[in-house]
Amino acid sequence: MRGMKHALLTASLLAAVLAAPAVTAPPATAATAAKVCAQCVKAHMDHLAGDALRGRRCATEDEHAAARYIESELKKVGARPGFGQGGYLQAVSLSTPTELSPPAVTVSAGSAVLKWAQGGEMIASGESASLSGPVVRITAFDGVKPEFRDAVVFLDAPYNRKTASGLRAAGAKAVVAIAPQPFLDQWSQAAAATRPQIEVLGTGEPKAQPGAPTIMIKPQAAEALRALPAGARLDLAVAQGQPKLQTTYNVVGVIHGSAPNADHDAILLSAHYDHLGVRGGKTFHGADDDASGTSAVLEFARLLGRGPKPRRTVYFALFGCEESGGLGASYFRARPPGALNDLTANLEFEMIGLRDPKHPNELMLTGWDRSNLGPTLAAHGARLGPDYYPEQNFFQRSDNYQLALKGVVAQTVGGWPTPPTYHDASDDLAHIDLAFMDEAIGSMLGPVQWLTNSDFRPAWNPGKKP
Ligand SMILES: [Zn+2]
Repeated sequence: MRGMKHALLTASLLAAVLAAPAVTAPPATAATAAKVCAQCVKAHMDHLAGDALRGRRCATEDEHAAARYIESELKKVGARPGFGQGGYLQAVSLSTPTELSPPAVTVSAGSAVLKWAQGGEMIASGESASLSGPVVRITAFDGVKPEFRDAVVFLDAPYNRKTASGLRAAGAKAVVAIAPQPFLDQWSQAAAATRPQIEVLGTGEPKAQPGAPTIMIKPQAAEALRALPAGARLDLAVAQGQPKLQTTYNVVGVIHGSAPNADHDAILLSAHYDHLGVRGGKTFHGADDDASGTSAVLEFARLLGRGPKPRRTVYFALFGCEESGGLGASYFRARPPGALNDLTANLEFEMIGLRDPKHPNELMLTGWDRSNLGPTLAAHGARLGPDYYPEQNFFQRSDNYQLALKGVVAQTVGGWPTPPTYHDASDDLAHIDLAFMDEAIGSMLGPVQWLTNSDFRPAWNPGKKP
């Protein structure tokens, strides 16, 4: 699960404080729970969230080692290569803009000059490029004015997302706003999280054009800016270097179904296997996020591979670089094993390693009221319930969203979405409830088996398609 995307930052700044989705499983029935191999689940967790893989950071050798492990486990349980002759691994090329020096701002008005450093007085959002413009000060946005065009608009008030997008739409080159208190409280994390956006190469999708950047400033900087004489100009300098090229992998296995049209009516079970890696000398193991979901998908591959073939084809996809913006999944949706509309439904599994103390008897499905998938699975025995944390936008914060944007009914099953371990170094094996994980997987097995053998085609509810 990714951190919540702040409107102004490319990466999520409040990641450190905000929680991700989780799963709570109700006690599974004895019959289904017995089928889950607790030893297998534990072995996956020990390996993926162990010290050797150092937190599986996006596009690192640690992440690649995790991909090879997942590939060998899919092979072991008899899943076929998801890409046929192409194998299990889908290489995804990433291009990261680099900066030769951090963004810097100079504001000058006559002989008065202000200089702001990134992470010091200001934080410029990740997509920033060099720009220059006259400063136009407003205290509130009460409609488009011609002077906003090509200006740097100084909103002399706490940042407000709506106002900022209104100003961008009015042609502002940049928006300067006072950082609100929660942002100030997380200033250094926000500065660290503000990175240029990574581009996924080869998707054939048009490159997103960066919008006008936002420059968050501290109240003291706002005071100095307010005190300048009229006619101030702001220059934002960003020195860009050669983009850094890296690779991540999606790992995909498949069980081809028995129905004649099985490959055109497939179910996708997915999770992301990357996490945050090593930060500030600490390993972020990502046991819950999302070694737990990865282990669940591997266990589903084992369980579904044992009995008679399902009617529908089932893909097992483990995505790379979810934490950096759903990068693996956004390549997968552009280059799926078959046609994207051959995917009838996608269930992503995220953070099923801890039980939600507030909702101990059910797992959560993000975007519950957006489609009939959750209620239908619940009617077939899933202990699934709504997402009780709508303000967290969990539906948009995992790989399912990349597919949902392209029309696939894609939602995430989770346990406890807001545990204290979320995106913290304490998200390790010692803080995982393995018994709960086994229950969670066991409780979903029957409903997943039903789905893979049914004719049910989930649909978005009216007006709820993202
Ligand atoms: Zn996460």
